Amino acid sequence: MAQLLKLENVYKTFEMGKQIQLKAVEDISLEMDEGEMLGIVGEPGCGKSTLGKLVSGVQPPTAGRILLGGKPLGEAPDPARRRFSPGVQMLLRESEIDLFSTRPVAETMAMVLEETEGCKGGALDAQVFRLLQMVQLDPVCARRQPARLSEIERVRAAVGYAMCRRPRLLVCDEPVTGMETTAQLLRLLERVQQQTGVACLLFDDDPDLLVESCDRIGVICRGRMVEFGPAARIAARPCHPYTQRLRQHSRSAADSGRLGKRVVDSGDVNNLVNPGPGCRFASRCPYADTRCRAEYPPQTEVAPGHWIACWKSPAAQG
Ligand code: SF4
Repeated sequence: MAQLLKLENVYKTFEMGKQIQLKAVEDISLEMDEGEMLGIVGEPGCGKSTLGKLVSGVQPPTAGRILLGGKPLGEAPDPARRRFSPGVQMLLRESEIDLFSTRPVAETMAMVLEETEGCKGGALDAQVFRLLQMVQLDPVCARRQPARLSEIERVRAAVGYAMCRRPRLLVCDEPVTGMETTAQLLRLLERVQQQTGVACLLFDDDPDLLVESCDRIGVICRGRMVEFGPAARIAARPCHPYTQRLRQHSRSAADSGRLGKRVVDSGDVNNLVNPGPGCRFASRCPYADTRCRAEYPPQTEVAPGHWIACWKSPAAQG
């Protein structure tokens, strides 16, 4: 399959004052194919949202390159239109849909379609109907204002809004929080992907929620990608200690009673400020030693297409 997205050694650093740097994204490289469902998981505050903004063109990287279809992804010149960078759409969070809008959902879709595709009259109505069918939103619901819709109906409307512009890539940064709504959204995205071929980059803190829908999964710990590989393999054999911990304490694990109460580590900005040279998980890892704290581990392949960054992987130990 053709390559759609490529990140080459991407960094995003925020200067927080004299000698204080918040390293939200550090040295991330990845490739994504046309039509692929790629999941990125990590704790709250690990840099996932920043990565989503970089890929969407909402923010420029501090260093590195982001290529879409082989061309550098430019920052959209008009801040009001940054969610509408050509080829990439960022799915609105359910809470970001304008609940005070007096315009019914179908009218908003028609407005966007008229602007982007220039269609009018019957052709416009047919396009709106096609979109509503795709996102499984009842046309009766679509004649209502967003505030009068249920949560899942608003999620369907958000996907419809995003698909109006026929993106090649849909970026979904935890648009909903409830597990059931997230599961419904993932099923909807799979359907939309199958019908249109759009690729989806999905962010969540729960690997178990994404493994069913995604082809591959990347795991981020404090701004660094620490594991990457086929979703089915990471679900069956997570190799990095951070991924193992993430799975043990995920929402799915807590809800299923597998490990009781969910634990969320302090994912605050302090974790990303002036990190030391070593592994980002060293302060919490039960296997950490002196080398882990002193040197960042290289990426080592543990199976075809599956790599981790950990000094204790058999390949890293030579
Ligand atoms: S490099 Fe060391 S600290 Fe980091 S995950 Fe591996 S064993 Fe743990």
